[in-house]
Amino acid sequence: MTDTLYERVTARPADTPSPVALNLVLADTTLFGEDDSPGWVQGYGPVPAVVVRDLVSDAVTDEAAKATLRRLYRHPRSGQLVAMESKARIFPKGLRAFIGVRDQTCRTPYCNAPIRHHDHATPARDGGTTSGLNGLGGCEACNYAKEAPGWQVVTHDTDGHHTAVYRTPTGATYHSTAPPLPGPTRRHSAIEGRLSIDIVELKWTA
Ligand SMILES: [Zn+2]
Repeated sequence: MTDTLYERVTARPADTPSPVALNLVLADTTLFGEDDSPGWVQGYGPVPAVVVRDLVSDAVTDEAAKATLRRLYRHPRSGQLVAMESKARIFPKGLRAFIGVRDQTCRTPYCNAPIRHHDHATPARDGGTTSGLNGLGGCEACNYAKEAPGWQVVTHDTDGHHTAVYRTPTGATYHSTAPPLPGPTRRHSAIEGRLSIDIVELKWTA
């Protein structure tokens, strides 16, 4: 019965394994055992450091598994995602992955549903750019609600904090700030912060 269910759901033969992609996000310091900040599994949530290290170790040592590494760059003060290494450099795909990892769940305040759409805050028809700044992760329901008359969403980035301001048809405004990535945040001078962002942006566009 399990085989039949598997074949009906996946449209693949039950005796052939299906590839499953698992995105693990963790600080390099956690990976190398310097600290025990929890990691995070995309689509699931926080996972203790010891478990993420085991998952990485299993994936690397299992002959049948294919483990890949992608570097993510955090803002030194806010801890938010500012850039991500992308081997495939295809702009929309890389950008969708970036927004998915940065936002983690639907960005509408109090929603927290899984991300189904990667949307423009200011629509492309109104001159909104296809960029990380103007991009937002949203669930299906919120994405359609946002299209209704009277809704307006504006994004801005202040000192590494990506914030979306939602204005509802009644005129009420709500703020949504992207969550930080795993790992401790440190205090840096403004010059150090600016310099690290410049270095990351250089890599991102190279
Ligand atoms: Zn939502």
